[in-house]
Amino acid sequence: MHVPVVVLGGGPGGYAAAFLAADLGMQVAIIERDERLGGTCLLRGCIPSKALLHVGRVLSEAREMEEWGIHFTKPNVDIDALRARKDKVISALTSGLAQLARRRNVTLIRGTARFTGSTTLEVASVEPGGASQTITFEHCILASGSRPSRIPAFDIGSPRVMDSTGALELADVPESLLVVGGGYIGLEMGTVYAELGSKVSVVELTDTLLPGADRDLVKPLQKRIEGLFSAIMLRTKVVKLEDTGTAVRASFEGPDGPSVQEFSRVLVAVGRRPNSDGLGLENTKAVVSPKGFVEVDGQQRTADPHLFAIGDVCGEPMLAHRASHQGKVAVEALHGEPALFAPRAIPAVVFTDPEIAWAGLTENDLATSGQTVEISRYPWIASGRAHALGRTDGLTKILVDPETDTVLGVGIVGAGAGELIAEGVLAIEMGCSARDLMEAIHPHPTLGETLAFSAENYFGLATEIYRPRAESAGG
Ligand code: FAD
Ligand code: NAD
Repeated sequence: MHVPVVVLGGGPGGYAAAFLAADLGMQVAIIERDERLGGTCLLRGCIPSKALLHVGRVLSEAREMEEWGIHFTKPNVDIDALRARKDKVISALTSGLAQLARRRNVTLIRGTARFTGSTTLEVASVEPGGASQTITFEHCILASGSRPSRIPAFDIGSPRVMDSTGALELADVPESLLVVGGGYIGLEMGTVYAELGSKVSVVELTDTLLPGADRDLVKPLQKRIEGLFSAIMLRTKVVKLEDTGTAVRASFEGPDGPSVQEFSRVLVAVGRRPNSDGLGLENTKAVVSPKGFVEVDGQQRTADPHLFAIGDVCGEPMLAHRASHQGKVAVEALHGEPALFAPRAIPAVVFTDPEIAWAGLTENDLATSGQTVEISRYPWIASGRAHALGRTDGLTKILVDPETDTVLGVGIVGAGAGELIAEGVLAIEMGCSARDLMEAIHPHPTLGETLAFSAENYFGLATEIYRPRAESAGG
């Protein structure tokens, strides 16, 4: 079979690319080994985890209503119904994608693809003994994504040790859960299980949770999960896992020396690695970095003129919205447009409670960039809306170029930070000044106001923050 444009992988990078290619009049096929479209994000990532986090949030809000004099009875979790409801969310979205593909005349080819040359793929059937087929193409957009990183010492063949896919399957609510890795997945899934009733302990190798996020944003989250989780073990290493037949025995080495504890289950969430191996890329001219990422230029072109790469397989941050944007850039480049993937801000959101979100320049970046910025923070204790919601444990900050007043970065921690960051992204991409943010009238009372208020605070003019005038400061 010959198809002018082939997209290898049906995740958020792959289907966004294929659908745009079809919209622009190209004849396109998606090769996907999974039965359904959606990739990691829809089938075993973003969407199911956010559906479960929504449930966790409702449970915690119901609990917190006690403070307001509203008493609910203790919730009764029907795990089978919860799992079915989560699966229904996935089914609705994946069948929507299949319908969209059909309407656009995008051909779906089911199977596991491998390059046999720069313009040929061998697609093996997923059915045992099924026939394989050869696909030839002019251009291929590689969107094969990533998979969980594995630590060989933890591969003990125990059903009690799971990765994020296993955790999202929600087989049961274990009495206790050890989460190895205090990153995105560890904290999001740890939150889900803790809210459902598991005693959750998290073990993190470095000296902080979410090492990629700014410290002041992590602090309120850490404070809250110290109350929700049973233990947070930093600077600690799991040296051994053993299945005892009824539990998993974990041996730790931490700042206080070695220790041993048993857990009903273990979730290993120590990062993800690109799906670039086993693809036959050695039969093409594409270059793979030592970390396994396919190297690309600003138009997502690899070193092979027939091959583009997008999403998790071509680098960090491994986020769905980055993958789909890169997919669109690749297709536009293929269409002859002067497209370039050069964002000023790729937003990151950790959907814990509180949520943490950032975009553009971060304080962590300053350590390496050496750039001079002024940082203006607006604590949510000063926000009326935060008080009305009972969630004053938030902070909004902006990083501003002091010479031009241009907003270079935004960081938010607090309830709903993931929604609020979109305004920060737009401000950074549009080159807004702090004055633009301050003077754009924000609706009251909203948490969105905290963006404008952090800009007011940059000029020392925040209504709800009193700063003594410089000339009167001395008395
Ligand atoms: P993928 O979504 O991984 O899709 C790749 C596809 O290629 C897969 O369907 C795979 O089956 C297919 N494939 C691979 N090799 C072959 C082959 N040889 N032949 C045929 N098909 C093949 N990101 C966010 O932005 N927000 C979130 O909230 C978020 N939450 C997450 C939660 C979890 C638990 C996890 C694990 C990830 C989460 N992510 C989140 C990350 C997000 O899922 C990925 O960044 C995103 O899915 C990457 O998209 P992609 O198209 O590059 O690859
Ligand atoms: P991560 O990189 O976010 O976190 C992994 C953590 O594990 C790090 O803090 C690291 O220091 C720690 N670690 C590494 N080895 C360890 C060990 N042996 N013992 C203890 N700790 C160890 O990775 P993740 O949580 O697995 O998530 C993978 C990726 O998936 C993320 O980086 C992100 O790109 C994506 N993701 C995004 C979202 C979101 O956007 N909300 C949610 C989930 C996943």
